Amino acid sequence: LVASGCNNDREGSAPAGGSSGAPAAGFAKDALIGVALPSKTSENWVLAGDLFTNGLKEAGFQSDVQYAGASTTVADQQAQITAMVTKGAKVIVIGATDAAQLSTQVEQAKQSGAVVIAYDRLITNTTNVDYYIAFDNFKVGQLQGQALLDGMKAKKATGPWTIELFSGSPDDNNSGVFFNGAMEVLKPAIEKGDVIVGSGQTDVKQTATQGWKAENAQSRMDSLLTSTYTSKTLDGVLSPNDTLARAIITSVKGAGKPIPVVTGQDSEVESVKSIMAGEQYSTINKDTRKLVAETINMVKTLQTGATPQVNDTKSYNNGVKVVPAYLLPPVIVTKANAAEAYTDDPKLAPLTK
Ligand code: BGC
Repeated sequence: LVASGCNNDREGSAPAGGSSGAPAAGFAKDALIGVALPSKTSENWVLAGDLFTNGLKEAGFQSDVQYAGASTTVADQQAQITAMVTKGAKVIVIGATDAAQLSTQVEQAKQSGAVVIAYDRLITNTTNVDYYIAFDNFKVGQLQGQALLDGMKAKKATGPWTIELFSGSPDDNNSGVFFNGAMEVLKPAIEKGDVIVGSGQTDVKQTATQGWKAENAQSRMDSLLTSTYTSKTLDGVLSPNDTLARAIITSVKGAGKPIPVVTGQDSEVESVKSIMAGEQYSTINKDTRKLVAETINMVKTLQTGATPQVNDTKSYNNGVKVVPAYLLPPVIVTKANAAEAYTDDPKLAPLTK
C-alpha cells in the first residue's frame, strides 16, 4: 500500500504560506479546465462532478468533467487526461483512480503547459504534480481511531475490547494515510492489551479493501465472523468510509450478531440515517462543497497568474517530491453532534431532526 503521503510527525506543521514551483503565467478567463475523477466509489465523487461542472461554468471557464468507468478505471482515466491535454486544458484537476499509474499523463500535461492539481487523492512517483488539495487525511484517520475507542468505552466501560480493522483500496494513496492516522491512536491501546484485534490481522495488506468495493468488505467481514466470532464478542470495527461501514453492518446483521461500534467517513445519506438510528457509530464530515469551491478558487488564482495559497509544505511526499498542499479540516460526527455538524447542509440537516 502506498503510504508515502503520510508524515506521522504532524507537530509544527503550521500554515506555510504560498510557495511552489508551479508556473504562474496566467491564461484566458474562459480557458478549458479538465477534471478527471475516479469511478463513483462513494457519494462524494458524485457530488464533486456536479459541483465542478456548475462551479467552473459560473466562474466563466469551459469545463470537461470526466469519471473513470466502473471496471477499466485506470485505462479510462489515463485516456481522459490525455484527451484533456489534447484539447488544450490549462488546469487539470485529478482525483486519481490509481495514485501510481498517471506519470505519463501528468508529464504530457506539464509539457503542454497545464497546471496539475491532485484533488482529494495524491498522485505518486512523479514530479509533475503542482498542488494537492484535500481534507487532512491523517487527521481523518486519527478521528476514526479515537471515535472507535470512545464508542466502545461508552458501551462497555472497561476493556479489553475486541476489534477488527479495515482499510481502503491499496491503489489509493489516502488508504494508507487514513490507516496510519487511525493506528497512531489505536496502537498504544493494542500494545497495552486494552484493545485486541480478534483475527490478529493488523497489517494494512490484510485489511485492504480492493477498489473500495462494498462487496469486498462484506465478504471479508463474513469470513472474519465465521473464523473468529462464533463465540467471541466483536466490540468494534475500524471502517475507513461509510460505504464499507454499511457493508460491514450488513454482514454482522446477516450473521445475527449484535452491531459493534463501526466508524465511517463521507457523511453519506444512508450512513447519516444509520447513525441517527443508532446503528453506525460515526462518520466524518468532509464537505465536498467546500473542497470543490477551494479548488475552483485555486484555478481562479492560477488564471490571474498568481501563486495559489497552500497551508502544508511537508506532509505529502509523493515519493519524489513534497507536493505543496492545501488541507481542509475534517470533522468527526456521531449521533450526539450530527444536528450541529450538518446545520448548513440542506440535504443532511433534515435527517438529524
Ligand atoms: C476519499 C474518501 C472516499 C474513498 C472511496 C478516498 O480517496 O478520500 O472520501 O470514501 O476515496 O471513494
